[in-house]
Amino acid sequence: MNSTNSGSNGTKKSTSTGSDSSKQKGTSNDQKMQSSQLMQLFEDQLKDIYWAEKALTNAIPKMIKNATSEELVEALTSHLAETEEQVSRVEQMFELLGKKAVAVKCEAMTGLIKEAEKMMEECEEGAMCDAGIIFAGQKIEHYEIASYGTLRQFAETLGLTEVATLLETTLDEEKAADKKLTEVAVSAVNVEAAAE
Ligand code: ZN
Ligand code: FE
Ligand code: FE
Ligand code: FE
Repeated sequence: MNSTNSGSNGTKKSTSTGSDSSKQKGTSNDQKMQSSQLMQLFEDQLKDIYWAEKALTNAIPKMIKNATSEELVEALTSHLAETEEQVSRVEQMFELLGKKAVAVKCEAMTGLIKEAEKMMEECEEGAMCDAGIIFAGQKIEHYEIASYGTLRQFAETLGLTEVATLLETTLDEEKAADKKLTEVAVSAVNVEAAAE
């Protein structure tokens, strides 16, 4: 039984000569090149989200300061704590990859934070400010959901199981934060804002 199996495997390998073998070799080289390019893209985008998360640890406190609704303040405060953990979670991922944690400026998050700041400057105090903060906050969460969703998919494709698990944890937190903001908007803030 064993000898038959190894025999047939051996035969397959040793007889794959000529155009067939070069075709197989070409395929595996292409796959290798594609996977190293995918790895590069993955690392670049990890650096991007690392920068974005760090920027958010500075931006969220400003949103908390401008928020009025107790529910909104609570939601933002708990997500700030999560965001700080997310920063160290990304650092853990770099460690698993054997790479130095490097942050590269995320232009998208820079823009989203600018939008949030503009809304907070222009709003009248109270429910309207809260509505604006929720609006900006949900745009931010959706950007994060998109990033972490794709990063997790890439990690799975690249066979980075542990990294994929860490990405999934953060992805779930971002989804929950988005959902929480919707709840706050529906339950209190938008109703009050409409009444103003
Ligand atoms: Zn983020
Ligand atoms: Fe985050
Ligand atoms: Fe980005
Ligand atoms: Fe978030």
